[in-house]
Amino acid sequence: MSKLRFDVVQDAFKKKAVPAESPAERTSKYFGELVFNRENMHKYLNTKTYEALIDCIDNGHPLDRATADEVAEGMKTWAMEHGVTHITHWFQPLTEGTAEKHDSLMEYDGKGGMLEQFDGKSLIQQEPDASSFPSGGIRATFEARGYTAWDPTSPVFIQDDTLCIPTVFISYTGEALDYKTPLKKSLKAVSDAAVPICQLFDPKVKKVYSYLGWEQEYFLVDEDLYAARPDLMLTGRTLMGHESSKNQQLDDHYFGAIPSRVMEFMKDVEIAGYRHGIPLKTRHNEVAPNQFELAPIFGETNLSNDQNQMIMNLMQQIARKHGFVLLLHEKPFAGINGSGKHNNWSLGTDTGTLLLAPGKDAMGNLQFVTFFVNVLVAVQKHNALLKASIATATNAHRLGANEAPPAIISSFLGHTMTKVLHKLLEVPSDTPIEIAGKKGASVGLVEIPEIFIDNTDRNRTSPFAFTGNRFEFRAVGSSANCAGAMTTLNAAVAEQLTAFKAAVDKEMAAGKPMNIAFMDVLKPLIASIIDTVCFDGNGYTEEWKEEAKRRGLDTETCVPIMFDEFTKPASVEMFEKTGVYTKPELEARNEVKWETYTKKVQIEARVMGRMAQNHIIPAALAYKNRLLTIITQLKALYPDDFESMAQTELALLQRVTKLVEDIRTKCAAMVDARKAANKIEDEREKALAYYAIAESLFAIRRPIDKLEEVVDNDLWPLPKYRELLFIN
Ligand code: ADP
Ligand code: MG
Repeated sequence: MSKLRFDVVQDAFKKKAVPAESPAERTSKYFGELVFNRENMHKYLNTKTYEALIDCIDNGHPLDRATADEVAEGMKTWAMEHGVTHITHWFQPLTEGTAEKHDSLMEYDGKGGMLEQFDGKSLIQQEPDASSFPSGGIRATFEARGYTAWDPTSPVFIQDDTLCIPTVFISYTGEALDYKTPLKKSLKAVSDAAVPICQLFDPKVKKVYSYLGWEQEYFLVDEDLYAARPDLMLTGRTLMGHESSKNQQLDDHYFGAIPSRVMEFMKDVEIAGYRHGIPLKTRHNEVAPNQFELAPIFGETNLSNDQNQMIMNLMQQIARKHGFVLLLHEKPFAGINGSGKHNNWSLGTDTGTLLLAPGKDAMGNLQFVTFFVNVLVAVQKHNALLKASIATATNAHRLGANEAPPAIISSFLGHTMTKVLHKLLEVPSDTPIEIAGKKGASVGLVEIPEIFIDNTDRNRTSPFAFTGNRFEFRAVGSSANCAGAMTTLNAAVAEQLTAFKAAVDKEMAAGKPMNIAFMDVLKPLIASIIDTVCFDGNGYTEEWKEEAKRRGLDTETCVPIMFDEFTKPASVEMFEKTGVYTKPELEARNEVKWETYTKKVQIEARVMGRMAQNHIIPAALAYKNRLLTIITQLKALYPDDFESMAQTELALLQRVTKLVEDIRTKCAAMVDARKAANKIEDEREKALAYYAIAESLFAIRRPIDKLEEVVDNDLWPLPKYRELLFIN
């Protein structure tokens, strides 16, 4: 076994970069070629059908069956030109990743042969076997069936030989069983709530979009080393492993030269991404060794999230071509940074105004401040819920650890906006919010710069930072579906905007001019957030935890308890008012969350137990055997001087024996705890029992990592951190 480890490490080290595919054309020429986008719709549909479909996409007008048949026909022609033989409804169930069941296009032609067929009915709806997906008891309580329904706002695309149709996945009685359905409802809610406010500034506004720009972090490990680590293979993270002498302490990886094997991988990912219409923009090394990031240009949230799901799939496949395995786990390695997925989020009108960026004049700035403040009020009110929306068993390893995010949701505003908010509290309500520098000396004025110079990365410790024209929700996990966080955020903001509009209407009905009405409503809101959710200090410190508690922010660190937030009255009211989730849906989804939490920890605990038993203890015993042989020989050779001659061996023997004993007893206790936990029926209680087991895994790991330092390198059966992290 030990020989195997060295062989694997050496082979991995010798691997050369596999050249990326080289496309024959410029990127702009093949961008989106695998997507049934507007250009392809125009080309493959007649004008009437095209217009009906665009109307359906842009304005939500339903398609009649005949038109749907024509759309399907056009799609089929286009797809078959790209070698497509199958179709699938592509959806996002409450597991990780996406689901698809492929059906061939083949049907009998009635003349003894076969032909390719695809009609409106199979485009619009399918009935996959819902029983294999988590539903949190919804199916048991309601109806056993679930179905997928086409989401025309997200374009159909081709993967390999299959036409993928993005769909929502709902139960027969209409409850959401996926991420997309509630996300879409929240997008409608935030638009419906924001439009009436925007119309006071610009009557032409008809729709408000939520935008998302995700920054996807990930690790790559060599596939041969990965295959020698059962923990990585089964849980996505290393459950053990002593920290490497060299880690990220030299800061030499971040933005460093990209290793050539990785570079070729990235190029292939970009080519595949562009072909699928994903506007990838940045690629770079991240802080930890073997950690990288990619990000697209932001887009409408539903589409951008689909694209994130697509790219995660594509990256997984492409990694293997380059001899890597992609790790999307939030914390694959202890002691170095984990991976997140910053969700850059903003709102914008269909007339092209970004609502979280400074305006062009005083009224534009008032609109900006209005949205800015209301977002913060929503985040403050629902800070615990927002944290719950990103909480998972895997993200728990980042939360509260000394890296973004702390397990407290607060918002970094930056010096300028903090000053603006303070100033707004001092001045009379009719004071215009000027653009900085336009009015000369500015005593008494509230001023906002036209653009914020580099607000971007000034405080990396903040989980919800204002970065100039957007907020950056940094607490989202790298493996997560962004929709979980985006649905909650959009719904919370929608609720707050509606309340704000009602308050403003009242003031205006009492005869106040619009700007004064706005400021009169905004001022108490500003006063309530300014020293509560707004926090520009270091989010990683112990003092902040104390301070946050004093401010009334949620500081819970236990993931299964965080989920309780979803069914608390304020959350249920908010989700029901905005039409995003019903109470039964929230309850069912929590069941799924607890169950998933339990299963993840359960798998980790099993793997830990078996690796301790089958890998670690045998290696330690083999080493002990070596020591004992030497000790016996020394005793025979130096009967009088034995104690002093065998000092090292005896000390090592004692140390190994103690560590092995520690591992063995802790594992036995963990197995007992698991048996007890498995008997618990209630999902929440069970998850809580597993929370304690998750904590105990850290304690088991400690003596294992110490053993790794002590035992002969030759005998250690698992690739070490220094090998996993520094070979590429
Ligand atoms: P950083 O400096 O934080 O690494 P980037 O400048 O690379 O970030 O941008 C991160 C992401 O934020 C990109 O996907 C970018 O398109 C997106 N982004 C920029 N402006 C907005 C906005 N107004 N709304 C949403 N996302 C945005
Ligand atoms: Mg960023």
